[in-house]
Amino acid sequence: MMKLTRRYFLQGIGASAVLGTLTGLAPTKALAMNSYGANTSLLAKRAGTIKYSSCLRNCADRCLMKFSVQNGRMTYVRGADEQYKTGSCPCVKGLTYVEYTYAPDRILHPMVRVGEKGSHKWRRITWEEAWDILIKKTNEVIEQYGSEAILPYSYSGNYGAIGMRGADRFFNRIGSSILDRLVCTEAGVWGYGSVQGTTDGPDPETIPNCDCYVSWGFNETVSNVHGIKLINEARDKGAKVLAVNPNRTPICSQADIYLQPKPSTDAWVATGVMKYLIAHDMIDHDFLKNCCIGADQAIAKVNSVDWKDIERVTGLTQKQIEEFADVYGHAERIIIRAGYGMQRNYNGARMTRAIAIMQAMRGMFDKPSCGIIYDNVRPITGMNLNLGRGNYLRKGKQQHVNMTDLDMALKAENPTTENRPIKPIHLLVIYNGNPVAVSPNVNAVIENLKRKDLFVVGFDMIMTDSLEYCDLILPASTQFETDDIIGDYHSWYVQICEKVIEPVGESKPNWDFFAEWGRRMGFKDQAFRDTPKDIIRQFLQTETPWYQGITLERLEKEKFIHLDMPESVPVRSGGKAETESSKIELYSNIMKKAGFDPVIDLALCEEEMPEEEKNLPFRLLSPGIPQRVNSSFYNVKYIRAYNAYECEVNPEDAKRLGIKSGDKVRLNNQRGEAFFVARVTTRVAPGVVRTAKCNWRSTNPYGQNTNTNSLTTGKLTDMGGCSAYHSTRVNLSKA
Ligand code: SF4
Repeated sequence: MMKLTRRYFLQGIGASAVLGTLTGLAPTKALAMNSYGANTSLLAKRAGTIKYSSCLRNCADRCLMKFSVQNGRMTYVRGADEQYKTGSCPCVKGLTYVEYTYAPDRILHPMVRVGEKGSHKWRRITWEEAWDILIKKTNEVIEQYGSEAILPYSYSGNYGAIGMRGADRFFNRIGSSILDRLVCTEAGVWGYGSVQGTTDGPDPETIPNCDCYVSWGFNETVSNVHGIKLINEARDKGAKVLAVNPNRTPICSQADIYLQPKPSTDAWVATGVMKYLIAHDMIDHDFLKNCCIGADQAIAKVNSVDWKDIERVTGLTQKQIEEFADVYGHAERIIIRAGYGMQRNYNGARMTRAIAIMQAMRGMFDKPSCGIIYDNVRPITGMNLNLGRGNYLRKGKQQHVNMTDLDMALKAENPTTENRPIKPIHLLVIYNGNPVAVSPNVNAVIENLKRKDLFVVGFDMIMTDSLEYCDLILPASTQFETDDIIGDYHSWYVQICEKVIEPVGESKPNWDFFAEWGRRMGFKDQAFRDTPKDIIRQFLQTETPWYQGITLERLEKEKFIHLDMPESVPVRSGGKAETESSKIELYSNIMKKAGFDPVIDLALCEEEMPEEEKNLPFRLLSPGIPQRVNSSFYNVKYIRAYNAYECEVNPEDAKRLGIKSGDKVRLNNQRGEAFFVARVTTRVAPGVVRTAKCNWRSTNPYGQNTNTNSLTTGKLTDMGGCSAYHSTRVNLSKA
């Protein structure tokens, strides 16, 4: 157990993040200083017209940024310091947006494949030729197989309201299969939701008011680097920082108490904490009596679990958990920041549910600066998504396809999703996503993409690994080449994304492309004639209380607006939770119906692994790394310098296997193999190896065309149809 109290370590995290951003920003030759110490070349870049846009990556921070534009060209980017959340400095990734926008490998014109899929042979064509091919193919597929044979594949490459959801108008109108975008958070949505009735938690800007911040399975330095200042503020006022994570993240190293359990044993850790709380009468009896159902069953369940089993399963000692529980039990305002990786496990929903029950035992759901921050989606769901996405254009019922299931859903014969049969897919449209980097069990996905009877369209800015398997490649604009807005899923803001520059080359913004595709298909609906500003107005045309008075004009003027949402969540001011019983549910019928223990289910992932995998020696974890957002930024020069192909190995394991830092290593299991460079470190415990998630295959210098997802399981989580990447076991050897 780590027990460090020096707050300045947290400052160190912020400092290194800024240092990283500067490294990314400024090539050495740009740092010529004049005699006043000013950086003249950077000052020159900062001149020009200022435009405001938000980072539309899948990142909790949602930085608002200011762009300098000169002669129609973006020249400089910095944080919009008017917004405290962002401050003056985005992260290393955001600071590369000029280079990202003008990257030498931007796709600037349409191309058609002239060799085998994957042979990288293309011919440049005009947009008119591209439209001819696309319209002909679309009509052919519909005629021959029906419109459900068309499947969009997209996720969070562009998180703008229009950039992410505008294309749904086209797919709704054409009647394609509906993509269920469940890869990321859904098991946790069910787990936390089964207790709270919602995943919405407190406003992160109230973190400075809590007296205990618990980082549980979350890596702030990757997923919320700007949130560290809020934790620092809380700590300045005396708050304790606790951390639970099988990966020792920077916050873990600097927490007051850090627990490093075995992967996905978190329900057992929470049970241990609750045992201590119950034994020392640190539970909130009034809250349990007045606001919860199932408290007696939960207490009985916790008491039935033996400390010896908790120690065996978690790898932690009773003393370690009790020290943690004592700090947690004495705090009065506790915010848990729960990560997403933890729930990407076969027991993801059940595990996260136990953490929510633990928080309920302390009564942390009915007052400000308390609760669980997991998926604060109300700034997004409060918009009029039905209107913006054109759900009214959908006629009849289309089949759903879970995006996490591409290994099964794209098969030529007997395709399935979530274990149910579906009609085969013959036209796949990839945009805002890179399935060859992101999909679990990716070797099977690639075999499917190679199908001769599957026409694949790729609409992207750069040549991703997925585009290698496309028949038609179309140039997409960046988020900065059109108008949009964005709602947070962490903080409580809605923000502007002004068009910064005109589309580069022959590229088209997402909406322009899909609207034109619709018009060229002959659709007369007004939906395909709406401009981005029309659609923004439609997203904002809502009865949602916290969107009242928010207009495009106001956003254009103010750039960002803090949403006035009810504070006391999930037990709202009227004393009711959004559950079936209107109480916090420590006993859940939802879990019972799913076949799980309705109180606390302590199942472990290994129990559900196939025989050939469950006894492999290493558990593979593949979380995010600070220099990437999922599969984004792999082509950017300054970012590329940060290695996304390290395999972290504990010194004990490394010694036994004769592996040193810098050695090339091979990971393998029944799904495939992948090559990395070893880093020997105590950041992972014995029996665990860690690589980066969603890394590209084509840029792996240690084993071309292998990546982390060559190894990961395609089986889904216990609830929600989410990816279960971390329920993967592997062999490790020196290559
Ligand atoms: S990736 Fe996150 S931290 Fe970086 S600029 Fe974008 S929103 Fe900000």
